[in-house]
Amino acid sequence: MSEVTLFLADENAMVEFGHCIAQVTAGAGLIFLEGDLGAGKTTLSRGIIRGLGHTGAVKSPTFTLVEPYEIDKVRAFHFDLYRLVDPEELEYMGIRDYFDEDVLCLIEWPDKGTGFLPKPDLTITITPHDHGRQLKLLPQGARGESWCAALALEFK
Ligand code: ADP
Ligand code: MG
Repeated sequence: MSEVTLFLADENAMVEFGHCIAQVTAGAGLIFLEGDLGAGKTTLSRGIIRGLGHTGAVKSPTFTLVEPYEIDKVRAFHFDLYRLVDPEELEYMGIRDYFDEDVLCLIEWPDKGTGFLPKPDLTITITPHDHGRQLKLLPQGARGESWCAALALEFK
């Protein structure tokens, strides 16, 4: 399957789409979120984490690098690598221990961690478009492809 492209007109649509992603992933996998500052990576992450059942705030982990969430039986980690100076720092923070089988990891600015991150199931690239956002979903592997197929059906 190839890329899926879709348009989301406003922040609410973005959060709603995050809920759909939460459903199709069932709380396990690795998603890269690409796009400039203000593209909507954190907004989408908030939608995903809320979609997993989290009811509290979802802060941007810009200064902490990672924010953990425990939601019933689901665990999620939300990374923002924007401030990472050297990707090797990921080694010191024990990055590998985060990517467990039954964990959903969301990574903003994954290119800052090049060489120290595993291959994602899905890369989502967000760009401003009219007053909304265009999202490109690029699956990498069987799991990402099945997510994309399900999402494409829902957003036809
Ligand atoms: P990033 O994490 O990529 O830096 P944020 O999610 O923090 O971006 O901020 C994105 C901004 O864009 C917020 O002000 C949000 O309200 C807005 N936004 C998010 N999604 C959309 C959308 N689909 N259409 C229009 N505005 C959006
Ligand atoms: Mg952000």
